[in-house]
Amino acid sequence: MRCEICGKKIMGQPIKTKIDGSVMNVCNDCSKFGKIQRQPTRPTKPRAIQRPPRREKPTYEVLEEYNNIVREAREKKGWSRENLAEKIYEKVSVINRIESGRMSPDIKLARKLERILNITILEKLEDTQSEEFKASSLKGATIGDIARIKKK
Ligand SMILES: [Zn+2]
Repeated sequence: MRCEICGKKIMGQPIKTKIDGSVMNVCNDCSKFGKIQRQPTRPTKPRAIQRPPRREKPTYEVLEEYNNIVREAREKKGWSRENLAEKIYEKVSVINRIESGRMSPDIKLARKLERILNITILEKLEDTQSEEFKASSLKGATIGDIARIKKK
């Protein structure tokens, strides 16, 4: 590497010097003619917002003992499995599987059962990470996003 001003061979690192508005690689002597530039500093890019990976985890979880809760509530009402199936527009086989614990109802079905039997088989999961996610996404949200969130 040679000095861009005097052409002298530079030993080691050239000195980046701003002379007449342009940065040049010069020798120690020529660096006096301009303003020495700091050695390459890392560009201070604003850090990208770290978003936790979107989790498809449901916010609700069906209680472990859902089958007993459903069966007991149904029996208390004096309904047969057929009665219950009719009321929630499901097949009796679905009720059979739910009450035997072989099939855990999905959220939609669980909600129907909760309403018709006046029971609680859904447990809200305290998902702090998704709360954080909501909070951080709100910060960078556009007005349109906020309007959409408010609508919920
Ligand atoms: Zn020079």
